[in-house]
Amino acid sequence: MPGALSPVSVDTVELHRVALPLLSPWDTAHGSFDVREVVLVHVVGAHTDGWGECSALPYEGYAGGSIDRAHRALRDDLAPRLLDSPASDVSPPAGADTPPTARFAIECALIDAALKDRGTALAEYLGGTRDAVAAGAALGLGDTVSTAAAARAAAVAGYRRVKCKIAPGRDLAVVDTVRSEIGADVFLGADANGAYASTDAANRNTLEELDARGLDFLEQPVAADDLEGLADLSAALRTPVALDESAASLESTRAALDAGAGNAVSVKAPRLGGLLEAVRIHDLCRERNVTVLAGGMLETGVGRAAAVALASLPGFTHPGDLAASDRYFAEDVTEPFELRDGCLSVPDGPGLGVAPLPATMRRHTLSVETLTR
Ligand SMILES: [Mg+2]
Repeated sequence: MPGALSPVSVDTVELHRVALPLLSPWDTAHGSFDVREVVLVHVVGAHTDGWGECSALPYEGYAGGSIDRAHRALRDDLAPRLLDSPASDVSPPAGADTPPTARFAIECALIDAALKDRGTALAEYLGGTRDAVAAGAALGLGDTVSTAAAARAAAVAGYRRVKCKIAPGRDLAVVDTVRSEIGADVFLGADANGAYASTDAANRNTLEELDARGLDFLEQPVAADDLEGLADLSAALRTPVALDESAASLESTRAALDAGAGNAVSVKAPRLGGLLEAVRIHDLCRERNVTVLAGGMLETGVGRAAAVALASLPGFTHPGDLAASDRYFAEDVTEPFELRDGCLSVPDGPGLGVAPLPATMRRHTLSVETLTR
C-alpha cells in the first residue's frame, strides 16, 4: 500500500460543474445521456493545490447515486468538513450514505495537492510499474449500424480490447456484429450491467449461447447482490465472469470472491470512493489470482489521469476499458489522452500530471461554487 502523505491544509474548495458534449450518446441498461456533466473539485492551500473529478453518472442506480446527489454531498457536507479541519488527511471522514464518487473527488484532489508539494507522480506513489497502459474501448448500447461503426472505428484506431454493452434482446446479434467488425485478434468483452435474471430460463439460455462467442469476459451478467446466481454462472460458463457493480467496496469484493461469484474484478476508483480503496482491491485480487480490469466512468482528463495512473499497477495485466479522450469528446478539459500503439501514456508529472486548461474550462463550465474557511 502507498505510504502516508503529509496532511494538506486547504483554504478554499472550488466546485466546477462542467458539461462536455459526447461525440455520440451513451446508452446502457441503466440509462442514456449525450452530455457528460461532472464536478471538478479544486482544493487550494497556501503552498499547493489539487484537482479531483466527481464522475457520477446523470442517473441514480449506479455508483451510489447521480451527479446531482454527489454534487450536493460535495457542497453541503464534504467541502465544509474539509474546511473545518485544520489540515486534512487525504481520506477525510464521510457519512455512510455519501456517494463514493464524491469521496473519491476529494481524496484525489488532496492526493494531487500533497504529491505536487513533494514532486511525486501519482502512478509512482500508488506503486505503478509501467509507463503506458493497454487501452480498451467501451461501446454503449446502440443500434446495429452505429455499434458496427463504433466497433470498426475502435479496431482501426488500434484499441486492444472492445467491450460492448448488452441487455436482454440486444445481445447475441450485438456481440456477433462487433466481433465481425474487430476480427479475431482484438479482445471482446460484454457488459450486461446486471440486466439478466439468474432465475429466468430464457436469460440463462442467452448467457449460455454467449458463452460460445469467445468473449474474454462477461461483466456483471446478473444483479450485484445475486452472488449465488453469479457463482452458478461462474461455475457453468467457460467465459470468465467479471464483477463490476458487485465490487462496490473492499468488503463486498471480498464477499463476492469468497462466494465464487466471479473470476475478475473491474476496478473503478470513483465507484469505490477512492484511489487507496482501489489499491486495496487490486492487492486483494492479486493475492487471489483474480484478474483486475481497469474500468472507466467516461471521465474527463482529470479523472482519466487518475484512472490511468491506477491502471499502471502490476495486477492490471489485461487491457481494460480506458480509452483516449477522442473516443468521447471533441475537446477534453485537459490536454487530451491520446492512443499510441494501442496504449495510453501514464502521466509522469507531479500529482495527477494534468490540470484543466483555463480556456477549455471557460467554454464548458456551467457553474463554479467557491467555499472558503
Ligand atoms: Mg460495467
